[in-house]
Amino acid sequence: MWRRLTPQEIERYDLVSLEIRQRARIVKVPRLFGGYDGLTSGRIIFLVEDNDHDGGRPLMAHELVHVEQFRRQGRLVFAALYFSDYFRGLARQRSHRKAYLDIRHERGARERTQEWVERRGSVRPRDSE
Ligand SMILES: [Zn+2]
Repeated sequence: MWRRLTPQEIERYDLVSLEIRQRARIVKVPRLFGGYDGLTSGRIIFLVEDNDHDGGRPLMAHELVHVEQFRRQGRLVFAALYFSDYFRGLARQRSHRKAYLDIRHERGARERTQEWVERRGSVRPRDSE
């Protein structure tokens, strides 16, 4: 079972284009590999929790940036850059967490989400993305 963003979510997650907001599909899953709360592949956003449909969730904003990155780069380029960043970071830093945080897509999604949160003045506990 999947869903689209609600009209309210489409209105509020304005850090990505309307096309991306309409493109996204949400799938609730019992758990994700690595203990993450959200994971995106192409247009599909997998979420462990999906009770909040009012458009104020930083995790959803973050994952929508990944939908945009996939759309812009295509799956192959996205995956090639994502994993080359990760393994290069891992070799350099010898820490999964640091290597993960340094991936260009993750940096980009964090920065965009942070700007969006500050612009909205939203204060909500963060999920781990
Ligand atoms: Zn991410």
